[in-house]
Amino acid sequence: MRHLLGADYAAFAASYEQAAHIGLRVNTLKMSAADFISKSPFTLTPVGEYEPAGFRVADETQPGRHPYHAAGLYYLQEPSAMAVAALLDPQPGEWVLDLAAAPGGKSTHLITRMKDQGLLVTNDVDRSRARDLAENLERWGARNTLITSSTPQQLAAHFGPLFDRVLVDAPCSGEGMFRKQGGFDWSENMVLACARRQTAILHTAVSLLRSGGILAYATCTFSPEEDEGVIGRFLAEHPDFSLITSPRFAGFAPGQPGWLPDDVQLPDTEQLAQATRFWPHRFAGEGHFVALLQKSGDNRLVQSGKLNQSPHPTRAEQQLWQAFARDALQVELDEERMVVSNGRYLHLLPPNAPDTTGLYVLRHGLPLAELRKNHLKPAHTLALALTADDVAHTANFAPDDPLLHAYLQGHPVPHNGPNGWLLITVDGFGLSWGKCVNGQIKNHYPRGLRR
Ligand code: SAM
Repeated sequence: MRHLLGADYAAFAASYEQAAHIGLRVNTLKMSAADFISKSPFTLTPVGEYEPAGFRVADETQPGRHPYHAAGLYYLQEPSAMAVAALLDPQPGEWVLDLAAAPGGKSTHLITRMKDQGLLVTNDVDRSRARDLAENLERWGARNTLITSSTPQQLAAHFGPLFDRVLVDAPCSGEGMFRKQGGFDWSENMVLACARRQTAILHTAVSLLRSGGILAYATCTFSPEEDEGVIGRFLAEHPDFSLITSPRFAGFAPGQPGWLPDDVQLPDTEQLAQATRFWPHRFAGEGHFVALLQKSGDNRLVQSGKLNQSPHPTRAEQQLWQAFARDALQVELDEERMVVSNGRYLHLLPPNAPDTTGLYVLRHGLPLAELRKNHLKPAHTLALALTADDVAHTANFAPDDPLLHAYLQGHPVPHNGPNGWLLITVDGFGLSWGKCVNGQIKNHYPRGLRR
């Protein structure tokens, strides 16, 4: 870095003496940034114009332990990572693919920017990381996501060029994480292996993108063997792609054409300046690289193909759902889009959901319930997608109420109300289902989430 940065190196090195930035991005699918500010127990500093719902927050306040976090009112994401979805700028109604998505920071951001309209396919090849992704998206309460755990090649063979935008937030050597996590795995060989892997993923991503669509490549490393090197190689091999100019907000720095590795032959190296670098000494964040690449062609929406093949609920299953909905819900959910997966999970599919036969799918849209023999258990994910206005019965708590904390620890709590399912809410936002039985709420907060 000393060699690459020259006069800037001293400021770069000094930034490692400071603490990492903690960022908080408000879930504007649930509440506006202004409303959150008015309720917030934290002191918030805006990250900048590029993300109006993004703030920096002091770590000592433990924002990850607050009940608002459990209710999905915000995601903790460092400020330069917030720039990725802001730059890709997906639009409501589009089909977007997040190819390397776990643990889900950028996916929660993409679906928010899409206003939960259209379809976000969010994927991670690593099954255990894909489960974390599902848990983080569950809190977010979005409906129009499909969560998969497949290889990029499997997705490409299955979907073909259907997506309006594809994000490759690539596995990288992670120098932008050193301040937070240390750099214990780093080696020159690892950097080169990451660059090769990124090139392979991008190559596959091409066949998932429609003509005229936009591919975003992002890393949290500074190494030019990845970043400019990978993009330079990609452009040399894919003349049907061109780099598009990213908007420059305060602190956004250009890519470095002069750092392109010698073995990459590119007719116009200067275009690499259109990529964006985030430096920890120039931007209040940990560091990222983002490049936006547009595929040439006629810019026509595709979004078609075989529709989802999952079976619809049987008559008896429909009746179970209708009985629950009649007693517990005040909103209507479109029964035409309800399907049953793995023989017992009722889901609400996104509109025009594509076929997923043969893919490993963790969630098809919004999970509604687990169907048992003569009854059903409403899905935790459904609780997080609802507010007090959407249900017939609630037990609402202020965030500092000791009874709420007892519930989050897995204890039953007293309640005056009719027997049956009710929504546990914090300031009106769904947190969990509970079942009232004779003056007491039986605890249905998932065991794995209890404190
Ligand atoms: N986008 C995520 C976020 O914002 O929370 C972070 C993604 S992380 C930088 C990179 C991810 O790529 C990891 O979760 C890893 O499991 C996944 N990955 C590793 N090898 C991959 C491959 N060959 N294809 C697709 N994803 C891969």
